[in-house]
Amino acid sequence: MEEIIKKLRELLGEVSDIGGASAVLGWDQQTYMPPGGAQDRAMQLATLNRLGHEKFVSDEMGHLLEELRPTVETLHPDSDEARLVIQIAKEYEKQRKVPSEWVANFSRTTSLAQHNWQSAREQSNFEKFRPDLEQVIDLRKQYTEYFKPYDHIYDPLLDDFEPGMNTADVKRVFDELRPLQVELIQAISESSHPVDNSLLNQYFDEQKQWDFGEEVIKDFGYDFERGRQDKSAHPFTTSFGIGDVRITTRVNPNVFNTALFGTLHEAGHGMYEQGISPTLSRTPIADGASLGLHESQSRMWENLIGRSRPFWIGYYPKLQEYFPAQLENVKLEDFYRAINKVEKSLIRVEADEATYNLHIMLRFEIELGLMEGKLSTEDLPDIWNSKMEEYLGVTPSNDADGVLQDIHWSAGIFGYFSTYSLGNLIASMLWEKINEDIPDLQSQIEASKFDVLLSWLRKNIHVHGSKYEPVDLVKRVTGSDLTAEPYIKYLNTKFGEIYKF
Ligand code: ZN
Repeated sequence: MEEIIKKLRELLGEVSDIGGASAVLGWDQQTYMPPGGAQDRAMQLATLNRLGHEKFVSDEMGHLLEELRPTVETLHPDSDEARLVIQIAKEYEKQRKVPSEWVANFSRTTSLAQHNWQSAREQSNFEKFRPDLEQVIDLRKQYTEYFKPYDHIYDPLLDDFEPGMNTADVKRVFDELRPLQVELIQAISESSHPVDNSLLNQYFDEQKQWDFGEEVIKDFGYDFERGRQDKSAHPFTTSFGIGDVRITTRVNPNVFNTALFGTLHEAGHGMYEQGISPTLSRTPIADGASLGLHESQSRMWENLIGRSRPFWIGYYPKLQEYFPAQLENVKLEDFYRAINKVEKSLIRVEADEATYNLHIMLRFEIELGLMEGKLSTEDLPDIWNSKMEEYLGVTPSNDADGVLQDIHWSAGIFGYFSTYSLGNLIASMLWEKINEDIPDLQSQIEASKFDVLLSWLRKNIHVHGSKYEPVDLVKRVTGSDLTAEPYIKYLNTKFGEIYKF
């Protein structure tokens, strides 16, 4: 049996080498590639992704898994080998249904679509991107065909990002959340203690913003020996293997929040990937358990830590040293309230914690409409704008700040957005447990000490990669099924204190 496991690992190693190489090309495309490289890059990525897929769904892989399946029960159920065989067999069944030709076509189409989205966004011209979007949606609909029968056309898409959840589950979570979020925002808007955040919209030198962000994430434990940060139009994290996990951010010299919170967020993703057990290296389960779990990590470091008072008790004096002219006369409390101002805003990634989920619900509803065929791309900008008005009371004045703001659809990732909200929920569930296990966590954060926290996350979450189903992992750690309760409690306490209601 050991011999067969060795063969399986060799084959999976080759699949993940191809995946890693393709990730390098994707990273380069988003960071340094000149515009002229787009056509060739799309072909290169299509070829690599097709080869990786062909290798993964090969008969050889099928035979190895077939031989190993009966012996899994003789292994310890939590061993890498047992979990590897179980998770790979499941993924194999799934991928086997998808023709390699579709994979190549999808890769080529989305690579070009991302390129065209970028320039359409720069020109704020949705019509320029619409033909690409049409193609991507058609391919995604075709993809769902391979998984028939399903309860809902959106289920196979969601399953790629959040295994174990279906459309009905997400609808249920959102139905529970929506009225509570609306109530919270109502209470904030009626508060007689408004927050002034104009101090964040001064000129902040780009390099200094960059340096401060890197200083913080070094303290967090993001390992620059196994990663680096670059600039991109949309912040992201990508892994070429446990030893090379890269992040990006963007910097706006006139808006303080953009770069720093982007960096903290992506570092949260990056530390997850850097913390995966080396014994899972070069296998497809050397990856986060799901995007919801991934977002729980990024949003924990960004918000539960990075937007907390204890964090700024530690870092505010340092930030004032970076920006004396801007912040010397600003009190910590005013700064803390400013970075937590709740605003009906246009841009999801810059949204505050209280309104964030409404941005997600809007996208979820639009994605369902597109997949169910009830919405056409022609109507998208109008639908987007009217939903923004309905949910957030603001209307974008152009497509760049509206329907074109996110990269996801151009990359073909439908079913992804809801995982951001699930991540918020999971982060708060984990946070309650962490604070139980580390009673002096808040004073450690005040002292800018994060090693005990990071070790907890490593041991309980990171090290496992995607050995377990996300719902199972959350239950193992917290003892509870997915619930919005800790999250709502957290929001109400935090914003009740800031807005005094
Ligand atoms: Zn993220």
